[in-house]
Amino acid sequence: MKLHEYQAKHIFSRFGIPVPKGKIANTAAEAKQIASELGGSVVIKAQVLVGGRGLAGGVRLAKNENDAEQLAATILGMEIKGLPVHRVLVDEAASIRSELYLGITIDRSLRMPVFIASSTGGVNIEEVAQTAPQKIIKVPIDPLLGMRDFQARELAAGIDLPQNQWRTFSEIAHNLWNIYVSNDATLVEINPLVLTKENSLIALDGKITIDDNALPLHPDLAELRDLDAEAPEEIEARKYGLTYIKLDGNIGCLVNGAGLAMATMDIIKLQGGEPANFLDIGGGASAERVAEALHIILADKQVKAILINIFGGITRCDEVARGMLTALKKIKPRLPIIIRLVGTNAEEGMQLLANSHLTTAESLLDAADKAVAASREGNNGRPGK
Ligand code: GDP
Ligand code: MN
Repeated sequence: MKLHEYQAKHIFSRFGIPVPKGKIANTAAEAKQIASELGGSVVIKAQVLVGGRGLAGGVRLAKNENDAEQLAATILGMEIKGLPVHRVLVDEAASIRSELYLGITIDRSLRMPVFIASSTGGVNIEEVAQTAPQKIIKVPIDPLLGMRDFQARELAAGIDLPQNQWRTFSEIAHNLWNIYVSNDATLVEINPLVLTKENSLIALDGKITIDDNALPLHPDLAELRDLDAEAPEEIEARKYGLTYIKLDGNIGCLVNGAGLAMATMDIIKLQGGEPANFLDIGGGASAERVAEALHIILADKQVKAILINIFGGITRCDEVARGMLTALKKIKPRLPIIIRLVGTNAEEGMQLLANSHLTTAESLLDAADKAVAASREGNNGRPGK
């Protein structure tokens, strides 16, 4: 789960990382009010969960409160990378001497968290990583030992930070590490970390991504989830314990197990088709959950065919089949559905489905073949055999 910049900055502030004074505004009038409280010279920042807001025109400097009102109105009417802007952050403007980068994420090949720092932070960090990789400093941190002072100094030296800033920088780095660990984050990032003309270090931007699997441990963070910023189907799916991710293709997939769902999507691709979603109904799926899964897939108007791939281990195939029948009775889908059931009680499951209008398949390859063919026929009104 990604946090908004203003939410990340609240956490920064609580953990002792300096951030600009600022407040969130829902309207241009509110932005004007906040700007006048802050003395007029402010930066107006779109709160959307994507990077590159600056380059898209979603971060603008205002000279005074009227300017702030106007810019806020413009930004509140924008869409950035397809996401409408509902709120803006109004921050006191900083005077920038230089922009640095500081972040922590997981290095999967090292199997360790890694600190990343650069003297060339700001909006072009991705480009720097490609064209001047020597300007990106990486320091892996042993999670059992935690962060050590010498590692903060290694980062400071690596980005040529003036020695008189090392102490403050080290504190910021330690605090960032504490945020990363105690919130079960997969990413924490300050870009830019700014050295101001007054010689202080301050976090002008903030990004935090929390590991979804850890959210039950952090109910306060789970509450920060911005439902406006997510696909409604994904929210609906989460309510029923389903993992659903919408994609661009036209073959809906209903699968039990994340690995099997990935394999199912792969094989659809291999046969020349495009999956419309990733959907893992999990183990021991009840009839109710299966019905909900079908409901969610069918809500996607792009879907032309559905491939159901169930491996019965803990989940019994007959239970899935019953779920299927309940759902079909309720929803009455009018598009081809191909189903493959193997494993525990597969035969019983198949028998239950024998009189329905589902197309059964012998193997996963056979199922993918049939689903791809059905999706090409593009006849939504025709029930499957
Ligand atoms: P992003 O583009 O989504 O990463 O948004 P940022 O919050 O990082 O802002 C983009 C850029 O706007 C920064 O790299 C700065 O160059 C500039 N910027 C942001 N806040 C201020 C500010 O208070 N003063 C000045 N002068 N520039 C700012
Ligand atoms: Mn940024």
